Parts: sequence; C-alpha cells; structure tokens
Amino acid sequence: MVKDKKIIIAGPCAIESKKQVFSIAKEIHSNINFFRCGVWKARTNPYSFSGVGLKALDWAQEIQKKFNIKCAVEVGTVEHVQLALKHKIKTMWLGARTTCNPFIVEQISSCVKNKDVEIWIKNPIFADMKLWFGTIERFKNKGVSNIKVIHRGFFSESKEKYRNPPRWDLVVEFKKKYPEIPLICDPSHISGNKNLIRELTNQAVKYNVSGFMVEVHENPENALSDSMQQLNLTEFRKFLSNLK
Ligand code: PEP
Ligand code: MN
Repeated sequence: MVKDKKIIIAGPCAIESKKQVFSIAKEIHSNINFFRCGVWKARTNPYSFSGVGLKALDWAQEIQKKFNIKCAVEVGTVEHVQLALKHKIKTMWLGARTTCNPFIVEQISSCVKNKDVEIWIKNPIFADMKLWFGTIERFKNKGVSNIKVIHRGFFSESKEKYRNPPRWDLVVEFKKKYPEIPLICDPSHISGNKNLIRELTNQAVKYNVSGFMVEVHENPENALSDSMQQLNLTEFRKFLSNLK
C-alpha cells in the first residue's frame, strides 16, 4: 500500500458533496495512508467557497469506517478540534495561516493536551522558521508527540513559477533542527499547477522527504477550490507509479 515507504496523504482540497467525497475515497483508499478531508477552508477571499462544514465531518466519519482509512481534517479553531474528536477524527492539521498565529496555536494545542491525536503542522505562509518551530514546541509542551510537518512552500512577492516557492534551503534547515519529525511535501500547494507536480515530487525525493500530501479530485476542472492544482484519478495513479 505504501509506495517506496513514502507516506501518502491524498484527497480533495475540499469535500464538496457526499457523492464527490465517497467516489474519490472509493477509488484511492487502498493506495494511501491518510485521506485528506477539507471540511472548513481558510479562504483568503471571504466570497470563495469555504467548505461544507459539519455535514462533511459526518461523511468523513463514515468514510473512516467504511474504507478502514484514517481521515485527516484541517482545524483552525478549538471548536473544529472538538467537533473532529466528536466524529472520531484523530488526525488533524494546522494550515499555513494558522501556524502564523501563536494565540490560536496555544488554544488548539491546549485542547488536544495529552489526547491520542496525530497533529500535522504546515509551514507558515511566509518564511519565518521560528513560527514553525514555535508551533511544534507548543504541541510538544502539551504532551503531543505524534507530530508530522507539511512543507507547502512559502509566499513570495515576486512573480514566480510556483504558487508558493519550495525554498529547499529551509527544508534542509528544518530537517537539521528536527531530524526525528517526518516532513511531508505538499506539491499541490507549492505548485498551484498540476503540471508542475511531477517535477516538484522528483525534487522532493532528492531531499529525502518522508511522504507527500496531494490534492485529488474526480473532476478538477469543476472543483470549487484549487481547481488548477488537483490531480484527477488517472493523474494520481501516474503520480504513484512515478514514485516507484
Ligand atoms: C489546504 O491544505 O487545504 C490548505 C488550505 O493549504 P495551506 O494551509 O497550505 O494554504
Ligand atoms: Mn487546496
């Protein structure tokens, strides 16, 4: 199930409907380690699709049971964490915007104190490594030891090829400081363009990342968020075979 022992996290940017999420899960669950479920979306533009919310958590819970797979959700508030736990979702990630906010990180980490959860921490939007490190320390201080980090690239003001340039130098810096924490590369949010995912994946392998988080949608052209960067099911199969 695991390609070259890399941890594979995949699923849609956002859950859009019960039909959409079940059909993606059915197709990919046997080839992945975690199913990513965007339930609440932290959108920059308040008029963009911001996720289905609570209903989607019910579907994620059903998917966990039906396909015997761990679902992971992004949490941005204490309420999100409490609702996820209520739905037996024990894998949660902090998005790039949340990692930038020590108040929220403190609240969320207190909420999962000594709980049996796995927490993934995305790098902060901009390249301030201290924010990333500080977020890790806050969770460690609360007794959370099951931590992974997600490298999703860093905001750049100059017009770049990638939506969020990868800054591999910072990946090296991270791995030097926390060699024991698995670092997962998210080429979907780094690239912003599905045609660049393969080259980024090949680069990431050279930096010996522990795995990948990839956005997969059955019909990316009509996705309600991040339509340019989501792989369709055939492209995802090719992504996996390229990793072999
Ligand atoms: C996401 O993973 O859905 C997401 C919003 O990404 P990021 O926090 O990296 O922008
Ligand atoms: Mn996305």
